[in-house]
Amino acid sequence: MVMKLAEQKQPSRSRRKRPRPDLEMIAEGVRLILEGLGEDLERSGLKETPQRVAEMYVELTSGMREDPQQHVIPLPGDKHDEMVIVKDISIASLCEHHLAPFVGKCHIAYIPKGGRILGISKLARLAETYSRRLQLQERLTTDIANTLFEGLKPLGVMVVIEAEHTCMTLRGVRKADAKTVTSAVLGGFRSDPRTRAEAMALIKGKT
Ligand SMILES: [Zn+2]
Repeated sequence: MVMKLAEQKQPSRSRRKRPRPDLEMIAEGVRLILEGLGEDLERSGLKETPQRVAEMYVELTSGMREDPQQHVIPLPGDKHDEMVIVKDISIASLCEHHLAPFVGKCHIAYIPKGGRILGISKLARLAETYSRRLQLQERLTTDIANTLFEGLKPLGVMVVIEAEHTCMTLRGVRKADAKTVTSAVLGGFRSDPRTRAEAMALIKGKT
């Protein structure tokens, strides 16, 4: 298990304009990979593969073309000031070093301020928007935390992600069950070790 604590608050990259994806260009790249592997592009099993792979990559990077802030809108009329923890949000992302999937769970904890809370589905959508990009697990973790911290202005935010990287489990050192754990800790969770420990215990607990 690798434990990494994000020390720095990174500037949010979310608002940068992205071009529309070019399916034909991606498919051409896939054809080159197949050719490079010595495959026969005319083989019936591979005929549709370049197009299919292109569509898959466009889908897996759909978050590049979304604004994550759109999900950070407080629920109207609701008031709550106690810690909120949403555990086990499934994430599937692409490692930008290998274009290989990494999959795992994202846990988000925050302490509301002024009663502002988010719908649980919005937290899941936020995690999804950032995971459907070419990512590094460390950046994915801090992006989610920073966007929530800037958009909701809570007292504190903590995001923990545990994930299995196929670039690590299927190739290279082949550590089949290796999990990478990253965390980003902001505001009250950073300044108060007891609050942080309480959130960690709730995240790790079975209930
Ligand atoms: Zn990788």
